[in-house]
Amino acid sequence: MDEKKCTCGSMDVRVVACSGGSNVGQIANQAAIQLAKEKVASFFCLAGVGGHIEGMVKSAREAGLMIAIDGCSVQCAAKTLQQEDIEPAIQIIVTELGVEKNPDLDPDEKACSLVVEKVKDELAP
Ligand code: SF4
Repeated sequence: MDEKKCTCGSMDVRVVACSGGSNVGQIANQAAIQLAKEKVASFFCLAGVGGHIEGMVKSAREAGLMIAIDGCSVQCAAKTLQQEDIEPAIQIIVTELGVEKNPDLDPDEKACSLVVEKVKDELAP
């Protein structure tokens, strides 16, 4: 995994999020949005990979570095990629950062920042 990390700042970095129906799924989604807004990574449509949309699977395969943000240990985002033999170079699981899963769909801002910072740490040379 380490050798795939971005060290040049010019690599095509993409992020997918599980975007699940829980606080942690929505934190994953919001963190991906934040990373896109900060131009750390482009937000890639995971549903296109899950839907086996040929062009989107191809595009996901061509990413220089793929980040998967999952809400919980079920790891739907990473597993969706892996079904197409795409291994995320970086995987974040929100519950592993100390956030407890619940049905609240309003993403906690602090938890989103925690995920964003974790991704940036993982990307750091
Ligand atoms: S990884 Fe967890 S939170 Fe995300 S979609 Fe799957 S079950 Fe839901």
